Amino acid sequence: MRVGGLHLIRALEHRLPGKAVDLTLVDRQNYHLFTPLLYQVATGELPPHAVAYPLRLATALAGYRFIQTEIEAIDVERHVVRTADGDLPYDHVVVAPGSVTNDYGIPGVAEHAVAMKWLADGEAVRKRVIRAFEDAAIESDAAKRKQDLTFVLIGAGPVGVELASSLRDLMDHTLRRIYPTVDFERDVTIHLLDAADRVLPSFDPRLGRIAMKRLEQQKIRVLLKAAVSEIRPGLVRTKEGAELRARTIVWSAGVKTNPLLATIDLPKAKDGRLLVDARLRADGRDDVLSLGDAAAFDYQGRPLPQLAQVAVMEAKAAARNVAALVRGQPAVPYVYRRKGDLIALGRTNAGAELALVRGSVVMSGLPAWTVWRGNYLLQLLGVRNRATLLMEWVLSYFSGRLVADAP
Ligand SMILES: Cc1cc2nc3c(=O)[nH]c(=O)nc-3n(C[C@H](O)[C@H](O)[C@H](O)COP(=O)(O)OP(=O)(O)OC[C@H]3O[C@@H](n4cnc5c(N)ncnc54)[C@H](O)[C@@H]3O)c2cc1C
Repeated sequence: MRVGGLHLIRALEHRLPGKAVDLTLVDRQNYHLFTPLLYQVATGELPPHAVAYPLRLATALAGYRFIQTEIEAIDVERHVVRTADGDLPYDHVVVAPGSVTNDYGIPGVAEHAVAMKWLADGEAVRKRVIRAFEDAAIESDAAKRKQDLTFVLIGAGPVGVELASSLRDLMDHTLRRIYPTVDFERDVTIHLLDAADRVLPSFDPRLGRIAMKRLEQQKIRVLLKAAVSEIRPGLVRTKEGAELRARTIVWSAGVKTNPLLATIDLPKAKDGRLLVDARLRADGRDDVLSLGDAAAFDYQGRPLPQLAQVAVMEAKAAARNVAALVRGQPAVPYVYRRKGDLIALGRTNAGAELALVRGSVVMSGLPAWTVWRGNYLLQLLGVRNRATLLMEWVLSYFSGRLVADAP
């Protein structure tokens, strides 16, 4: 059996012991990235290793196999996963390759903006911010210094909002102390752009209002109904005619289907995701299951959102079904239960919308921040990662963030 997904492995290990099955996890990276905290790597609150969990650890402990390689195609008729290092035949496959950054075909996004998707992106953003401050610290030309210290973040979804808020905190609580030649009030500007008419367009409007208020307090310039039409080196243009000059441009405006899915000859949703039934089976086949960003699971007439919380819940359901199918038993339907949404808004501030049986409650400020931190501390896998997270959060709070221009 060939499978994808760390949470699936974790949920399977007690159901299908390694001795009983030949189970392989294939991934081009040998670690799982905990994306909800990637923005903290980008703003020096956490080192990269805090949010990367070794996949080999999970597979070795469970008695499964791990192969680090690129999957090039999945041939569902011949039951073969084609990889850069050869073919892997399978009886059952679980397809969970996630999604990729969507630049919507806008010229210059790929070349002149940094995306926020992978671990290397988070590190790249942090290094760019630090380099921009080093150069600005010795720049005598006022216009050039301002451009060095202008940051344009595109996409006011959760990634853009959390990044903007944390970037301001990095400046207020760490960089101000160590760059005495920089005038933070005069020279530093953070812009947050979105084509929608509000921040956090996919969240409950109450969370959007909480976030907007906080961003205003943090003097982040939010530009809404601003659809980016072109990015050039150091320049962002919008369809509405705005032009923003900035040295650092970060793109977090959405994701699209992983191109690997195009190689799978099974029915897809309009956006290219694999259509799955209530048992997470593609095209009703017991030998192909899919989950996470790659799967279009219908919920009240729409596919579930591409979120980690959805992927984790689906992985647990898929594990149950994989174990049943391997034993020759029928798969059972998965029932989606929404939990709510969380948004970090700086040092001791956040917004939380917690789903109830009917409706939801919303909270903000310190209580929401406590829920936010507690939730992610529990969700992160591995004792080592959790201990690092806790220690680095305390250190960042009291001693400042990671600001060396080092790997
Ligand atoms: C910056 C950021 C922040 C986010 N924050 C949140 C949040 O706060 N809350 C939330 O609920 N969701 C969040 N999300 C969304 C969440 O990360 C995804 O919904 C979730 O990771 C999807 O899980 P998945 O298992 O489908 O895919 P992934 O977690 O992306 O895993 C896919 C794996 O497949 C591997 N892979 C892909 N293609 C190939 C190939 N061809 N060959 C070999 N390996 C391959 C990749 O290396 C990767 O390890 C965030 C996303 C991003 C980018």
